[in-house]
Amino acid sequence: MQVTLLGTGDTTGTPTAGCDCATCRRARDRGVERSRFSVHVTNERTDESLLVDCSPDFRHQFLTHDVPLPDAALVTHIHFDHLDGLGNAYRVFDDLPVHAANEVDPVTGESVADTVRRKYDYLDRVRVHDHAPAERFRVCGLDVRLVPVDHPPLLCYGVVIEDPETGATCSLTGDTSYAIPEASRSALSDPDLLLADAIVPASSCEHHPLGGTHYDADGVPRTFGSKHMTREGALDMAAALDADRTRLVHVAHFYPADEAFDDPLAVDGERYEL
Ligand SMILES: [Zn+2]
Ligand SMILES: [Zn+2]
Ligand SMILES: [Zn+2]
Repeated sequence: MQVTLLGTGDTTGTPTAGCDCATCRRARDRGVERSRFSVHVTNERTDESLLVDCSPDFRHQFLTHDVPLPDAALVTHIHFDHLDGLGNAYRVFDDLPVHAANEVDPVTGESVADTVRRKYDYLDRVRVHDHAPAERFRVCGLDVRLVPVDHPPLLCYGVVIEDPETGATCSLTGDTSYAIPEASRSALSDPDLLLADAIVPASSCEHHPLGGTHYDADGVPRTFGSKHMTREGALDMAAALDADRTRLVHVAHFYPADEAFDDPLAVDGERYEL
């Protein structure tokens, strides 16, 4: 399994349009980018690839990184930065199966699969496949599970991708607070590679109207506001899940410039062989 990080940024990306902060300037100077979230997974045995989330930066990502167009896609939740790139399927794909959860979200009155189907109804190339949370399904020769995480107020899912031949596993937390339900933690545990939401350092919580929550023993917040993990929370989660290797993703430009490009914060284009 080959995993390419196409988009490692948050909703605005880094550099952020119109932003002249030290972190965005440093990114421009270094020629690095954190575009909106997307991960490309290739199964070399079947020569197929799966796209996890459809970034609004889809076109730029596929022009910039040496990866084939996907044979299938998966959508973790309906926020703009994970879904709205699906419009790029128009005239690019003959057929694109899109996998999503079938659980009805009380906030929207429909499941992620239903929202994808409704919003992209005009694209007859897009075919939505519904899956129950935690159900194991096979796509591109890989075993995949969508596991519930905590991203209020919307339903959102982490992803477990396992090669049934080699046992290699990649886990993605998805957009989530530190409060991932126990059953999902168990499914996400022991991966060869963990991609964990770490939108900001814990020190940024003082700037959020809700502050932070899910404090560790030293009073450090693991969750920024209510929706995302802090860097410290993501690293605690990686330890709890016993990940062999961890990259922090969904990273905002609010990291101080002298920390923003330190390991294990990911940038676009990183590639891993599992
Ligand atoms: Zn900036
Ligand atoms: Zn989100
Ligand atoms: Zn997001």
